[in-house]
Amino acid sequence: MKLYAPSTINEIKEKYGFKFAKSLGQNFLTNKNIIDEIINICDIGPDDLVIEIGPGIGVITCEAAKKAREVIAIEIDKNLIPILQDTLAEFSNVRVVNQDVLKTDINGIIEEAKSRQLSIQNPPVKSVKIIGNLPYYITTPIIMKVLEDGIEAESITIMMQKEVADRIKAKPSTKDYGALSVAVQYYCETAGSINVPKEVFYPRPKIDSTVLKLKLLEKAPTELLDKNTFFNCVKASFGQRRKTLNNSLSGMGGVSKDLIKEALDNAGVDGIRRGETLTLEEFGMLANEIFKLMGEARRGNNISTAQNPPV
Ligand code: SAM
Repeated sequence: MKLYAPSTINEIKEKYGFKFAKSLGQNFLTNKNIIDEIINICDIGPDDLVIEIGPGIGVITCEAAKKAREVIAIEIDKNLIPILQDTLAEFSNVRVVNQDVLKTDINGIIEEAKSRQLSIQNPPVKSVKIIGNLPYYITTPIIMKVLEDGIEAESITIMMQKEVADRIKAKPSTKDYGALSVAVQYYCETAGSINVPKEVFYPRPKIDSTVLKLKLLEKAPTELLDKNTFFNCVKASFGQRRKTLNNSLSGMGGVSKDLIKEALDNAGVDGIRRGETLTLEEFGMLANEIFKLMGEARRGNNISTAQNPPV
């Protein structure tokens, strides 16, 4: 049986009374070549743990299960669970978790799977690979969750709108370069992509997609004194994209114009530039200067308060 064939999907719909939930972005893959390309780009080995987000009826899951030590598939739709139990019945190395991935403790799932694997006397899991064909509206939240929660994965391979992939990969001074590019490039490098035409989905969506493989960097590309200040600085710079840094950085809140001017001077960044021209390293230097000066300003306030106690 070709699980990915539209005729099989129709049989499954009939047998289980399943209805596509548009709100959950349920467009299933129907092309074996694309499924194989996704599996290949993931580069799954026999000691790998795969976390799949949004398995649907399991077309990617079963191919991953043939290569991985274990696959844990997180699916929000409870109507798909009995279907997955049938379509994946032959794989003893697949676990299906019926949860919203955005509310899932992915690190907890990984730790539990690793210790279970060891207790059945397997060699340690070599690496964790995350894979997912997800609704577009959760692409950015899920990528940022994986990155910000420090999820211990080697790579994350996700199907997304082509426009989002372009924004993630974008370089400074291009129209697509923005806060998302800087945030993702701080944690990852792009390690491959696949163009996916809309014709290979059932039901067919309106737009084409891209599968992007992001490899998590072992060492950050720039050393930061404080991540929050860095991300606030990036957000403020792109929040008012057309403004110069002299003006847009006041959007960070709690920083004076003088402090911004001094930080820009110290970092060697011209304040009449726009945020969209800064490299990740320049954002790093600037954020570090802002953080240092904010610390100095706070300490200065404390000293003057101590010297002049309120009467
Ligand atoms: N992987 C399958 C394929 O390629 O054919 C299905 C892909 S379909 C585009 C997206 C899947 O993600 C659906 O099965 C949907 O129910 C599931 N999903 C949507 N939101 C989710 C969430 N927040 N957490 C987990 N799964 C979700």
